[in-house]
Amino acid sequence: MATAFEKVGGDRSVIVARVNGELKDLSTEVSETDIVEPVSVDTPEGLAVLRHSTAHVLAQAVQDTFPEAKLGIGPPIKDGFYYDFSVEDPFTPEDLATLEKRMVAILKSGQRFSRRVVSEDEAVRELESEPFKLRLIGSEGGAEVMEVGGNELTIYDNLDSKTGERCWGDLCRGPHVPDTRYIPPNAIKLMRSAAAYWLGDQANEQLQRIYGTAWPSKDDLRAYLTFLEEAEKRDHRKLGAELDLFSFPEQIGSGLAVFHPKGGVVRRVMEDYSRRRHEEAGYEFVNTPHITKGALFETSGHLDWYAEGMYPPMKLDGEVDADGTVRKQAQDYYLKPMNCPMHNLVFGARGRSYRELPLRLFEFGTVYRYEKSGVVQGLTRARGFTQDDAHIYCTLEQMPHELDDLLDFVLGLLRDYGLEDFYLEISTRDAEKSVGTDEVWAEATAILRQAAERQGLELVLDEGGAAFYGPKISVQAKDAIGRTWQMSTIQVDFNLPERFGLEYQAADGSRQRPVMIHRALFGSIERFFAVLLEHYAGAFPPWLAPVQVVAIPVTDAHIPYLDEVAAALRAKGVRVEVDTADDRMQKKIRNAQRAKVPYMLIAGDEDADAGAVSFRYRDGTQKNGVPISDAVDEIVQAIDTRVQV
Ligand SMILES: [Zn+2]
Ligand SMILES: [Zn+2]
Repeated sequence: MATAFEKVGGDRSVIVARVNGELKDLSTEVSETDIVEPVSVDTPEGLAVLRHSTAHVLAQAVQDTFPEAKLGIGPPIKDGFYYDFSVEDPFTPEDLATLEKRMVAILKSGQRFSRRVVSEDEAVRELESEPFKLRLIGSEGGAEVMEVGGNELTIYDNLDSKTGERCWGDLCRGPHVPDTRYIPPNAIKLMRSAAAYWLGDQANEQLQRIYGTAWPSKDDLRAYLTFLEEAEKRDHRKLGAELDLFSFPEQIGSGLAVFHPKGGVVRRVMEDYSRRRHEEAGYEFVNTPHITKGALFETSGHLDWYAEGMYPPMKLDGEVDADGTVRKQAQDYYLKPMNCPMHNLVFGARGRSYRELPLRLFEFGTVYRYEKSGVVQGLTRARGFTQDDAHIYCTLEQMPHELDDLLDFVLGLLRDYGLEDFYLEISTRDAEKSVGTDEVWAEATAILRQAAERQGLELVLDEGGAAFYGPKISVQAKDAIGRTWQMSTIQVDFNLPERFGLEYQAADGSRQRPVMIHRALFGSIERFFAVLLEHYAGAFPPWLAPVQVVAIPVTDAHIPYLDEVAAALRAKGVRVEVDTADDRMQKKIRNAQRAKVPYMLIAGDEDADAGAVSFRYRDGTQKNGVPISDAVDEIVQAIDTRVQV
């Protein structure tokens, strides 16, 4: 017998092995016939092992420092790990600093992670002072967590590298790095602590969770921290308040935004441009109400499978006589969480001919979805929002061409808004829960796939990730700091046309069922607004900027002159303000910079005498003595061509 380490180890970046497809410790004994592959810390699985191993070191540091602390669970998560503890008092920032120091000492001492299989009795005896671990050994949540799993219980002992003495241990199914020196001490950081329920269930005890991060190198950690700083600076909730774009008034309630005039302008420009493009692409515009009788969502199936995402019903239209007899039963009315059922009613309002297909119905449709207060987040996860929603009704034969056009249209539109870096994701059938025949699914999925391939973009397969009613393409876009946002979705639907009995008359006179495609390109206007705000860090390109030009007089005497310049710009549709406030010029420049206005036009005596202005751009560069008509042309040109500055 050899160990996995002997087969694939040696290189310090290899931290675990894949043995016959399963992740194992490098110390695992393997036979001749086992297939052993190295797993590097640079892979997602390797990184997760590094982070989970670091979580153990945190737990050890916590029990070294707070011996009364009881252990919860400690899994890796995106960009880091956490560990839950039952402690008397919440951890303070000073505690975290102390714990981080202790962790560094443990890492440097090079303790070995040593795996030991134990019987349930042994585990229960060893862990008698760890009530939460005991509960894991029992049935509660067992298989769901890192600690236990498979068909054996294992304890990992941390052994001193020199003496072999046991320093600490934890119930865990592993795997882990061979020893703590595989975790660079200068590449870990404890981020914050927060209260959290045991196993995430509000009915359970509250524990204290410490979040941390760990990376293969110090440079990786530094890059991550810089990224976090940058992301925080760009947080749309923060920028929304700073730039006076929108707010979430407490009096209205969680997840429901109001747009202020400046945000309203950006939103209108976004909508106008989108509307124009949809018109050019052959969409027809419809309008539908915000509330409806429940029967519509029974027909659509939403009340069966989406009720949790819907607001509870309003009881309306009931009539009761004075003596208490019910003359008319009250009806349930719902706020709509989706526009699709109403668009189906438009399709079905009269007979349809094959000549009308593809029929593309578009609406800026406002919907309401009940999100738990814990998951509501700014404009990206709101309770009320407006989708740029359309439903396309076509034949299966028309689908390939329609999808090509649609993908060209989506990507073109997203590029116009300044997003450049995309990949496509295809979600395929989950055979367990789906409607429609095998043949139709296979054909529709193949059509989607071919259309996606024709775009020449990276294609990621989300196997079994489709909704039960049809396969989907989603467009994933990277923003200026490399974050991926799911933008547009293009969803084929075999279910709703059936439920609504939608039909058209084919060329041969027979009645046929159309295929339905749901598609929202922004997702929602609010969410897309937030993505753009973060992508541009508030510095919208000129065509989207709420204020495109601020005219700044050197002294008050130059205000009338700049009023004329502003009038010339306004006549061309430019959003311009003359700063007539009682501030000095430098202060006005600073204010315009803070408001991230693309153009400042400054004028003093020289400019006024020459019929000119001086440009000051957002990057601080300046251009003096520009004749007014040239200045107007430059700005109008930049707006019309949607330049990114
Ligand atoms: Zn572990
Ligand atoms: Zn829809």
